[in-house]
Amino acid sequence: MPDHPASDADAHEDGNALAGPLAEIFTVDLTSAVGRCAHCGRAEPVARIHLYNRAPGWVGRCPHCGEVRMRLVRTPDAAWLDLRGTVALRISLPS
Ligand SMILES: [Zn+2]
Repeated sequence: MPDHPASDADAHEDGNALAGPLAEIFTVDLTSAVGRCAHCGRAEPVARIHLYNRAPGWVGRCPHCGEVRMRLVRTPDAAWLDLRGTVALRISLPS
């Protein structure tokens, strides 16, 4: 059962849709990185955030509290990544 009632206003993808845009910036797959919400403190992989792309870029919201966890805007010559809604991001690396 979804966390929120389905409606057009609430339509979103999951964070897996960020794999391509983030791969352009980082060499590791950040969708598997575990982020902790700055608002409610819960943590899960970036792939599980609720992703909205009706803005000029992508807005990722916490699947638990609904607050903004991240924003990503791609301009012709730059990427703007705002992670102020994420306290920490644990990125697994090969040992
Ligand atoms: Zn949260």
